[in-house]
Amino acid sequence: MTLVLLKPDCLLNRHVGAVLSRFEESGFRICGIKMLQLNAGILYKHYAHIADKPFFREVQAFMESTPVIALALAGESVVACVRELAGPTDSLKAMKGTIRGDFGKNVMINVIHTSDSSEQAESELKHFFRKEEIFEYTLSAMP
Ligand code: ADP
Repeated sequence: MTLVLLKPDCLLNRHVGAVLSRFEESGFRICGIKMLQLNAGILYKHYAHIADKPFFREVQAFMESTPVIALALAGESVVACVRELAGPTDSLKAMKGTIRGDFGKNVMINVIHTSDSSEQAESELKHFFRKEEIFEYTLSAMP
């Protein structure tokens, strides 16, 4: 399972449906979904690895500028595949056909966050979802 955040630009530019479609069309299933307003506390934890960078304040202001949508996505090789669907951090360097290449603006305004390893996904999912907010099921559950 992996954590995805639909960032403020994704909501403001009304790309939520398009981005969700990419995940669904790639065979991933939504096991958790919620809208939330981020604050300094959760952002320091989530972005601890960039908290000492000169651009962190700007990232914080951006990430707090509107609510975000958090997703728990499941499926085969979901962590790596979703990072591939996203493209590299800098939207200007991302290939067309990737989420950031198609919808992102620059290195900061880049549509989505997605966990970069299974270990990171596990800890990030715990930051954003309580246990009972994650729903395990398989696509073969269809009646
Ligand atoms: P990723 O989100 O691709 O895993 P990082 O973990 O390195 O990338 O960075 C976290 C977020 O910080 C990025 O998604 C982006 O929004 C922002 N960011 C990264 N590098 C820069 C930069 N040089 N200038 C401004 N914002 C940046």
